[in-house]
Amino acid sequence: MKLGISAAEYISSIKNGTISAEEFMSKTLEHIKKVEPKFHAFISIDESAIEEARHVDKKIKSGENVGAFFGMPISIKDNICIKGGKTTCASKILENYISPYDATVVSKLKTQDAIIVGKTNLDEFAMGVATEFSAFGPSRNPWNTDYVPGGSSGGSAVAVAGLESILSLGSDTGGSVRNPASFCNIVGLKPTYGLVSRFGLVSYANSIEQIGPMGRRVEDVALLLNHIAGKDSNDPTTIDNKNQDYLSEINAGISGKKIGIIKEMSTGAGLDSTVSSVFKNSVAAFEKLGAKIQEISLDMVEYTVATYYVLTTAEAGSNLSRYDNLRYGFELDSEGYEFKSYISKARRNFGPEVTRRMILGGFVPSAGFAGKYLLKALKVKSKLQKQIQDAFSKCDFLISPTVPVMPFKFGEKIDDPLAMYLADINTVTANLTGIPAISVPYEIKNGLPVGIQIHANSLQEKQLLQAACALQSTTNLPEISI
Ligand code: GLN
Repeated sequence: MKLGISAAEYISSIKNGTISAEEFMSKTLEHIKKVEPKFHAFISIDESAIEEARHVDKKIKSGENVGAFFGMPISIKDNICIKGGKTTCASKILENYISPYDATVVSKLKTQDAIIVGKTNLDEFAMGVATEFSAFGPSRNPWNTDYVPGGSSGGSAVAVAGLESILSLGSDTGGSVRNPASFCNIVGLKPTYGLVSRFGLVSYANSIEQIGPMGRRVEDVALLLNHIAGKDSNDPTTIDNKNQDYLSEINAGISGKKIGIIKEMSTGAGLDSTVSSVFKNSVAAFEKLGAKIQEISLDMVEYTVATYYVLTTAEAGSNLSRYDNLRYGFELDSEGYEFKSYISKARRNFGPEVTRRMILGGFVPSAGFAGKYLLKALKVKSKLQKQIQDAFSKCDFLISPTVPVMPFKFGEKIDDPLAMYLADINTVTANLTGIPAISVPYEIKNGLPVGIQIHANSLQEKQLLQAACALQSTTNLPEISI
């Protein structure tokens, strides 16, 4: 029995009895034990997964109704709540925090008999691009453990690429699902703003973030989206997707579709030459699939990283103010402290990147500076939205490399926040405009993965997944050797 099978293969093997949920789960847990010392994809592992798998097998044997996932091992980023378990956000400040309820995405998956094997590692509070800012140590890229896996949902990408779970959920505020998907050779989707409930996701920048599915195949990501998308009364920003089936007709192809290459994301000094040549190969593949290619210029892209960091730090500054050591935090002896110093003592436990964001986040919206930073950022955001809508009046999809640089070594960018922020240049546009975008694994160069990003207009996930599936069908990537 292979661990590196697709979700569809898992389901059919369970249905025809060639494997049991317990067998697959026990093999998965064994494998996790073996590789975790190298990969560190997880912050916590749920030992009861094996009991749950036995329970699913019992249901199958007795002919009861079984949910769509048939006991499939799934992992969840550790900023998404699971009742009764820890949700740390990879931060010291929440090290012992126990979630009092299930996130909506979690309860939906549980209802469908998915089994959550563990909570995955991330940059503290999902702020970063390399998982190096986890308070519990970084995750490592399974293709080469000297390299970062990307971030902030690095643990989720490692768990999927490293065969420690078939699927995973991450969160994407500025690229955190797509960036690690690209670095680890898997598929990662940032859905349309509002398509997936965020009830139970610890907030970073609410106005733009989404929970997103990750898997090794586009079809697997479509299956996961089928079960997490749609209206939720607990999240007023959600929209009704009318039970759209993202998996049916996924092989429709893209013949005759119009594809725009985003010029500002696919050329220029910041683009690595290896990434550029892989991207050119993907353009040729799109042409072969029958798509019509044109170049599209979005000149606002130049300002998007600055805009993103102004808006997200402002929101993060406000969201992080709840960690005041009263409701959330440590049990410090309050004796001898006046109120402010009691709070600041606890807040010294935030890591360097979160601290930087809080300082910026207090500054950019403050009286006297809001006009210079926050309002300008909001203007760029609306201009960008207009440019994107113009672009979609001319084409069906917009493409670019997912990340302009190759996966890098640990420590390479950690002391250079600007270099780190620039790695987000191709991913933040989808967040700032609310449109969906997906990263598809395309080539392995010098042993390291490169992904291609496809954007579609809002709520066009079905078409987007068709395009992604068509592109993935042109690849023949090596299996990872673990
Ligand atoms: N790298 C970006 C940041 O640090 C994106 C993170 C994310 O999408 N959560 O904010």
